[in-house]
Amino acid sequence: MSTHRVDIYSILSEKGLDGDCAAWKERLDEISARDVERALGQRAGSHSLDRLLALVSPAAEGYLEDMAQAARRLTVQRFGRTIRLYAPLYLSNYCVNSCLYCGFNRDSDCERRRLSVEEAVGEAEVIAGEGFRDILLVSSEDREFVDVDYLSRLAGELRGAFDSISVEIYQMTAEEYGRLFAAGIDGVTLYQETYDRRAYRQYHPGGPKADYDNRLATPDYIAAAGMRQIGLGALLGLADWRCETLALGEHANYLIKRYWRSQVSFSFPRLRPAHRVDGLQFRHLASDKDLVQMITALRLCFADAGLVLSTREGAELRDHLIKLGITKMSAGSKTTPGGYSHETDATEQFRIDDDRSPAQVAEMIKTAGAEPVWKDWERP
Ligand code: SF4
Repeated sequence: MSTHRVDIYSILSEKGLDGDCAAWKERLDEISARDVERALGQRAGSHSLDRLLALVSPAAEGYLEDMAQAARRLTVQRFGRTIRLYAPLYLSNYCVNSCLYCGFNRDSDCERRRLSVEEAVGEAEVIAGEGFRDILLVSSEDREFVDVDYLSRLAGELRGAFDSISVEIYQMTAEEYGRLFAAGIDGVTLYQETYDRRAYRQYHPGGPKADYDNRLATPDYIAAAGMRQIGLGALLGLADWRCETLALGEHANYLIKRYWRSQVSFSFPRLRPAHRVDGLQFRHLASDKDLVQMITALRLCFADAGLVLSTREGAELRDHLIKLGITKMSAGSKTTPGGYSHETDATEQFRIDDDRSPAQVAEMIKTAGAEPVWKDWERP
């Protein structure tokens, strides 16, 4: 067991944040309006477990407007009135895992497709043609095909057209992340899915991803490889969102303190209907109001964290959320390999809800008084 793994593992287990959090639910219910006001009065942008606890409590639901205004002020102060735009590029939907919430799971009868490097470059050309300079390479766990050599070769092809290339793929080792970084990939998104061990076991019955501890340790490997961006998140719907937010906050705080070179960002993926997956079967689905509370609470505890929103959410809600602290969003996304170049029979990972074009999303951002940013950094 590595030292890093002991660190984050013991932080969560000592605080009881890797279980079903019964004790934390009691504490959440005990939070009073006064506790929330005290938390709101503390320095905006600073994290403590007690502060985050107050801000995600049921009592804070009565303060959502105050939280939203404070989150907005802090975001404008730190990031200006800008929203970065990115596009996901799906490379493969062959998968060795059996995540019960995903249409790509190994037991699914979905249409499978893999893109060769040349095909992926063709898709990226469509994405670049829409104006994007920030691309996220996405793949299921298909190590036999989408391996480090494949990703390095693809990154080499994309470097001229994109200023930022990141990946959202299966867990790798520190050495593998180091090779990706050397190839020009500067960010990795890896959701823990759920911090609740029992729920994790239930929803991940097979495949390498079933190892909770390895999943939890992997952001350390990402940071150790020098990646500029580390994306964290919990898949909302698998366990109580308030407890997930507390664990997420601890995880981020741990990484920020140890790896100053990397910027941590949060995503807020809510479970969506997928191939043979009915979203309504999940007991812990978060409402729109819950999502607003989670986003504003995390902003008020992490002034410099990126807050990322995908097209899983509907247009109306996205238009509203960009005013509350979101710093980056996807647009015009296709969640099938090959989906940008042509109509395809391959199954999408989940149904997208905001199907506006990138130009329409950029226009919406301008109408909201912000500037859509297609690139925000120059590769050295
Ligand atoms: S969530 Fe990812 S790892 Fe799990 S089945 Fe889907 S594609 Fe595979």
